[in-house]
Amino acid sequence: MLNIVLFGPPGAGKGTQASFLIKKFNLIHLSTGDLLRSQIAAKTPLGLEAQSYIDKGFLAPDSIVIGMIKLKLLENTDANGYVFDGFPRTVEQARALDLLLDENNTHVSGMICLTVEKEELINRLLSRGKTSCRPDDQDVSIIENRIKIYHDKTEPLREYYKAQNKYYKIDGTGSVEEIAQRLSDKVSML
Ligand code: ADP
Repeated sequence: MLNIVLFGPPGAGKGTQASFLIKKFNLIHLSTGDLLRSQIAAKTPLGLEAQSYIDKGFLAPDSIVIGMIKLKLLENTDANGYVFDGFPRTVEQARALDLLLDENNTHVSGMICLTVEKEELINRLLSRGKTSCRPDDQDVSIIENRIKIYHDKTEPLREYYKAQNKYYKIDGTGSVEEIAQRLSDKVSML
């Protein structure tokens, strides 16, 4: 199986590039942000609980996102592999993912980080906010909070995957096609 963790700050382009990767390598896209937003839209108890965190730019509780991923893995046991987008975001989530994949006799093939400067991230998110209607993309202080949480809680995962020799990074600026090419070159090496 080919299991890719797409890593990078909010606005780095993980979702856009994940859509490309799943087609090219015949993988399943698992975005915890998308899964949470569909729970919010359906007004499920889980969605309502998660919404209070997401709208302010905080992370949803580990137990919620880990549970969602576990279900998706169970639903797709015959998959060729996965692109994890926006997950894991904490060391606890990364440990849980390793255990879940291990139970299926597989593992993370590589973690690929898309690097983009902070100013560019803020511009991209604000411009996405104009069309996406996502409340967390429309307010600079919420966006800054998300970037800060990325630095505090998510960046330590770089070391987590480096220690397993699974860390790669690519430049996340340029055209969507250029970035997709860089990404595809990396994935083909895994
Ligand atoms: P972005 O990468 O632009 O922040 P996402 O759709 O990945 O967009 O995430 C939106 C929000 O959903 C996050 O700010 C966070 O509140 C919540 N979220 C998504 N994935 C996770 C996760 N793995 N753990 C905790 N919260 C998450």
